[in-house]
Amino acid sequence: IPEYAFIGRSNVGKSTLINMLTSRKSLAKTSGRPGKTQLINHFIINKNWYLVDLPGYGYARVSKSEKKKFQKFITNYFEQRKQLVSAFVLVDIRHEPQPIDLEFIQYLGEKEIPFSIVFTKADKLKPKAINRNVKAYSNELLKTWEELPQLFVTSSSKAIGKDELLEFIDATNEEINTLRQS
Ligand code: GDP
Repeated sequence: IPEYAFIGRSNVGKSTLINMLTSRKSLAKTSGRPGKTQLINHFIINKNWYLVDLPGYGYARVSKSEKKKFQKFITNYFEQRKQLVSAFVLVDIRHEPQPIDLEFIQYLGEKEIPFSIVFTKADKLKPKAINRNVKAYSNELLKTWEELPQLFVTSSSKAIGKDELLEFIDATNEEINTLRQS
């Protein structure tokens, strides 16, 4: 079964997004407090793909050794998951590109793991500001990448971007199936 991993800084809105994608409230634990999603969670969607909920990275209030432990956990996952198709890196649309996210994206690139960027909390900005920030992020990525990854603008509180994300995953799964059959 193909797997898609969701990851981002803690408090980026990952649990809320996963709840939106799985259409079940309080399935993934949400909180206003950083560092809540501590373990890896798997959700099976439509019986044909796994959504993998990885721990958030980069919380401020965690000790260095704790941070190391989480980093190890996350890198272990990416080094071992054979079923992983693609990662979704969540970033808060309100912020300019953050070094920790860019470093993580770089890491995915080195490991040749396909990824998309999911902007969260789009309801917090006006369309103009959304466009401006997406452009700023794209420009940052184009400094190191020849091509832009897939970008998704989402808001879990306004159910924006849900269909696009699910359709992208369905289309990717279909591609995989076609490749397998040929
Ligand atoms: P996680 O730590 O990445 O899992 O983040 P959570 O899903 O727990 O969300 C962190 C905070 O952001 C919570 O207070 C959420 O209610 C809020 N939040 C998450 N998604 C959205 C969104 O799309 N719009 C708005 N306005 N707030 C959001």
